[in-house]
Amino acid sequence: MTRSELISILSTTDRVQMKELFGQAEAVRDANVGRQVFLRGLIEFSNRCRKNCYYCGIRRGNRQVARYDLTDEAILEAADFAWHNRYGSIVLQSGERQSPRFTQRIARLLEQIKQRTHGGLGITLSCGEQPAEVYREWFEAGAHRYLLRIETTSPALYARLHPDDPLHDFDRRIAALEDLRRIGYLTGTGVMIGLPFQRVEDLADDLLFFHRTQTPMVGMGPYVEHRDTPLYGHRELLLPPRQRLSLALRMVAALRLLMPQINIAATTAMQALHPMGREQAIRAGANVFMPNITPQRVRPGYKLYDNKPCIDENASQCNDCLDFRVRLSGVGIAYDQWGDRTSASPESVARQEL
Ligand code: SF4
Repeated sequence: MTRSELISILSTTDRVQMKELFGQAEAVRDANVGRQVFLRGLIEFSNRCRKNCYYCGIRRGNRQVARYDLTDEAILEAADFAWHNRYGSIVLQSGERQSPRFTQRIARLLEQIKQRTHGGLGITLSCGEQPAEVYREWFEAGAHRYLLRIETTSPALYARLHPDDPLHDFDRRIAALEDLRRIGYLTGTGVMIGLPFQRVEDLADDLLFFHRTQTPMVGMGPYVEHRDTPLYGHRELLLPPRQRLSLALRMVAALRLLMPQINIAATTAMQALHPMGREQAIRAGANVFMPNITPQRVRPGYKLYDNKPCIDENASQCNDCLDFRVRLSGVGIAYDQWGDRTSASPESVARQEL
């Protein structure tokens, strides 16, 4: 698709055209990655972050947040939960920190999780920008996917969303994505949709960036404001929630048509704007679902935006809800699968050995 075709898709508000678009995206998803979703159990293990992104509820400057760090035992317990419930994969996510202690701790946890699951559980990391040697150490310890959202591929918009200092450097983030690819990770990125100051042309360029860089997995969702952030002061520029969600769904569908074989997440932010937002994303071509398996007691501390769903539930309740929600979307769940087209999944072998 050309840039102008993408802009046209993203701009449409005609109900019939949108229905056709979502139907086409679903058919393309079904034909290329199956009529199913892959699971990634999400463990938000720490909300400590050295950065100050203007849109983020856990930014360093937000003094309203109670900071936490899950213990190793709690992280391993959550990983065990995912394994026993046949999720196939987990995501270990935190704010951004850089220290030898942090690096070694993550490496140790990766090795322990791999050992406990006989190499069967796939592990995605999402711990921000790190030196290439840290990415390499974690890769060698067992992580095979890394999620680092660019948030917008427009340098001008990026500059409006972040402080003007070397810690929040657009080029450095692009370089980090390249480091990850070079090391061998399946690299995921993504953007926020419906930001203040964002134009539909910027979103079309985001899609073309994913295509140009052949990104194998994308997690993108609507921008949802957080009242304790600087960007909240520009909320009068936002589309109403329903229109913002609709734009995000058109982004998902357009990306599926552009890149039929990649993994696209139905992100939690979709559900923040509508109770059925994630199901709608699956009906627009998404194929990855990320049940939250973070212990309930710390979930309120990981509020990246207001109205974040599933704050009061625990992992078992989210698990009970999962089957129902996915079925409502009319697709199946691919249990015991890493869900990577480019790597064989050894989990069934691991289970046979148990
Ligand atoms: S978006 Fe990520 S890097 Fe930025 S403040 Fe939030 S947790 Fe930190």
